[in-house]
Amino acid sequence: MRYYPLFLDLKNKKVVFSGAGDHAAAKIRLLLKTEAEIVVIGEDPCDDVLQWAELGKITFYNRPLQNEDVRDARLVYGANDDLPADEIAIALGRSAGALTNIVDNLEASEFLTPAMVDRDPVTIAIGTEGTAPVLARKIKADIEALLPASTGLFARIGDAFRPIAGTLKTARLRREFWTKFFFTEAPKALLEGGRRAVGERLETLYHEVSASDAARGHVNSAVRKGGSVTLIGTGPGDPELLTLKARRMLHEAEVVLYDQLVTSQILELARREAVLIHVGKKGFGKSWKQDDINALLIEHAKAGAQIVRLKSGDPSVFGRMDEELDALEEAGIDWDVVPGITAASAAAASIGSSLTRRGRNSALQFLTGHDVDGFAEQDWNDLSATGATAAIYMGLKAATFIRGRLLMHGAKADTPVTIVSNVSRMDQKVITTTLLELPDAIKAADMQAPAILLLGLKSRRAAQALNQITLPQMKTGAA
Ligand code: SAH
Repeated sequence: MRYYPLFLDLKNKKVVFSGAGDHAAAKIRLLLKTEAEIVVIGEDPCDDVLQWAELGKITFYNRPLQNEDVRDARLVYGANDDLPADEIAIALGRSAGALTNIVDNLEASEFLTPAMVDRDPVTIAIGTEGTAPVLARKIKADIEALLPASTGLFARIGDAFRPIAGTLKTARLRREFWTKFFFTEAPKALLEGGRRAVGERLETLYHEVSASDAARGHVNSAVRKGGSVTLIGTGPGDPELLTLKARRMLHEAEVVLYDQLVTSQILELARREAVLIHVGKKGFGKSWKQDDINALLIEHAKAGAQIVRLKSGDPSVFGRMDEELDALEEAGIDWDVVPGITAASAAAASIGSSLTRRGRNSALQFLTGHDVDGFAEQDWNDLSATGATAAIYMGLKAATFIRGRLLMHGAKADTPVTIVSNVSRMDQKVITTTLLELPDAIKAADMQAPAILLLGLKSRRAAQALNQITLPQMKTGAA
């Protein structure tokens, strides 16, 4: 390691920038996060610098750097984007005892500015000693995704409570207390009652922990007063389409129940120690019964586990969310829902076509091809109107039935239909056909589940998409 990471106290300390253009502004913006006294000196200031000066955030002098400017400076930046001028600036800085840096010039600098994740007062600095800025940015993005925006707030609220928490008897108990606070109780309290609720929750958690510790003399059970279940929409399959919250909750979960359509790449984001339970279809169509899933959720929650229930797409779209929430409420178990990207949205994105469009359709229907009674009946009159648009879930097997119903109710035979299977996955496949040719097109292209049918929509990328199958003109009889 050539560069040693440090956190420098800049409260009321002078930081001098030689240079006032865009080059300087990029770094000044970072320093503005601190409590430093920022002095910027240079000609040709950019708009940002002028604005910061006007707002009193920095002191700005529209002239070249002078000797006395660097007096008492802790840091001096050469940010003129002009090597000779920068070298003069840092020579002055160095002789005044400041640490010096020429922006984007590693060799000429005494220190470098890391990539940062800012959840003040929690700060993460990422450095690659200048070797791989792209890697640093990627790591930063990953950490940003891992740490909710509220991390800093919780750290601040928790800090004030540290002396009291210190009275918990053992280090293990204190660790359990803080873990529970930061990762479970504080986020929940913030959501339910805002900042104030977080502070209140901290106190009750402290009392719970110390009371049950005293009662049982047992650490682990002390903080476990009962588990909770989070229903998470995992989107159509690509892990990049998870929300940040889904990703974090999945990472924190102790027990993970997942459906058939949840991909293995998503499951990999669970912790190694987490218990993973598949509650989707088994073998040839034998499914877990909803009651059994509910019972399993309740059983684990009562044992005190943090459970996530993963559902493909969005849990509120053909996901039986209500049934699970009803069962949890009845059992008195805390629940939460994290929405996800539903297959219709992801399919629309992949074909570059709006689900709603001015002048075409001001309403959109989400339909299922199947319901408990078999092929699902719909308001076919509505759906047969010109411009009607619908996302049809579980519609592959029902395609002939749907075509028949729609044609019978007056839909145009050349109404476009796009079928997208395995949306967002490596094996995604798209075909655009007409209502008349729908069943044959599905067969010819060998479209497999999971697939979504977009009635009334064409794929914008019909020609160029790699995974696009262009079908020959097909002869079909009427339905
Ligand atoms: N809650 C899910 C839907 C579950 S029902 C959601 O919001 O997306 C299962 C149906 O969803 C499948 O039969 C299929 O029609 C659709 N589906 C789910 N994932 C899909 C995917 N990756 N590609 C295409 N269709 C998908």
